[in-house]
Amino acid sequence: MDFELSASEEAFRQEVRDFLKENLPPPRERGPNFLSEWLTKVRAKRWVGFSWPKEVGGGGGSIIEQAILKEEMALAKAPPLGMSMMGLAWVGPGIIQYGTDEQKQRFIPDILDSKVTWCTGYSEPNHGSDLAAIQTKAELTADGKHYVVNGQKIWTSLAPWADWIILLTRTQFDVDVKHKGITCLLVDMKTPGVEVRPIENMAGDRHFAEVFFTNAKVPVENRLGKEGEGWMVTVSALANERSSIGEVTQLYDKLDTLRDLVKRSKKNGQPASNDQSTRRRIAEFEAKIAAMKYNGMRYLTKQLKGEPLSSETSVNKLHRASLEIDMDDFAVALSGAAGLELAGGAEAVDKGKWAKASLGWPNVVIGGGTPNIQRNIIAERILGLPKDGSD
Ligand SMILES: Cc1cc2nc3c(=O)[nH]c(=O)nc-3n(C[C@H](O)[C@H](O)[C@H](O)COP(=O)(O)OP(=O)(O)OC[C@H]3O[C@@H](n4cnc5c(N)ncnc54)[C@H](O)[C@@H]3O)c2cc1C
Repeated sequence: MDFELSASEEAFRQEVRDFLKENLPPPRERGPNFLSEWLTKVRAKRWVGFSWPKEVGGGGGSIIEQAILKEEMALAKAPPLGMSMMGLAWVGPGIIQYGTDEQKQRFIPDILDSKVTWCTGYSEPNHGSDLAAIQTKAELTADGKHYVVNGQKIWTSLAPWADWIILLTRTQFDVDVKHKGITCLLVDMKTPGVEVRPIENMAGDRHFAEVFFTNAKVPVENRLGKEGEGWMVTVSALANERSSIGEVTQLYDKLDTLRDLVKRSKKNGQPASNDQSTRRRIAEFEAKIAAMKYNGMRYLTKQLKGEPLSSETSVNKLHRASLEIDMDDFAVALSGAAGLELAGGAEAVDKGKWAKASLGWPNVVIGGGTPNIQRNIIAERILGLPKDGSD
């Protein structure tokens, strides 16, 4: 990969910096309408869905420009470019790749305008890692106008307040290979027969849920891709998820706050910033983030050549999981007993932020696929090793 930016890419970086200077006041100067004004302004610049085609309302930006935009936004600690997180990260790209023209017109503008929240209904109680074995059933009605959905999803992030769900169902059970017979549906969460039961995690958040489907009728025009070919849609969505998980700018941000914590902390009665082992850990974190950054550039290179991302994104997903755990646990250990206190605790450090992050490890470790599964993918599909469990 060529690390030098072209003149027009440099000019674009400057444009983003100028915009930020003009439109991003320091946090304490932001009024109650700041976020909605910000979202309107970045949308007017076509920076939401910036790399999506102009025909669907995106910015038509190049992949490199998209990377520049994200980097500058993260460096400036700017708010997100849109509030439809899953919509922007993988539902929208999935609809652009596999959707009909009607679906693009119907769903993409609302994602770009932050009008809808999407959630992802893949995992089931007995089928998480072994996702292709899902059992949620979708049956076509006799008149061919609807699918009737019955089954259960679990760990569905954002489901308690999501408007729509991208849902993986099984339309055929007598298949020779389990990856066949799977169909992807776009389902309105207000559909009768859809019930959401929030689950509380150990940090006290209720951001994911069990979602039950009982004779929920979904119009056939809400099928994404062909019937029985939902696995393809999912594989591309998961690669998008793992590639977005691979973004490093927010890890640099986290490292900055960790450095700040070190400067405020003591070790053995001395400033922690003078302690050799503490300094070494910080350097180690920085080196690991850099490794992730340069590995991420391999993905960029592949995309620039017009090749879709697949198994390789598991490398950064795996790397990030252990790195984030190490950083959070390091912050908790550095703060002593007070580091364990959540928000509201008498001595909570940084309003309990580190304790909460440390307890929230399943987000980065399990969400999007467990480390064992990532290792299997790397071993089998990248390194060409025999399948796990084979002699
Ligand atoms: C914070 C969070 C958010 C999530 N958000 C969503 C969401 O929005 N939508 C959604 O659909 N799902 C979501 N999930 C679910 C997540 O994708 C699954 O939990 C994950 O894929 C693991 O599946 P499982 O829980 O069924 O565990 P299992 O698959 O039962 O795994 C249990 C253990 O067995 C190991 N294991 C399983 N199979 C193998 C194998 N073949 N080889 C080696 N080891 C194996 C696993 O690594 C793990 O350690 C979320 C999970 C979390 C924690």
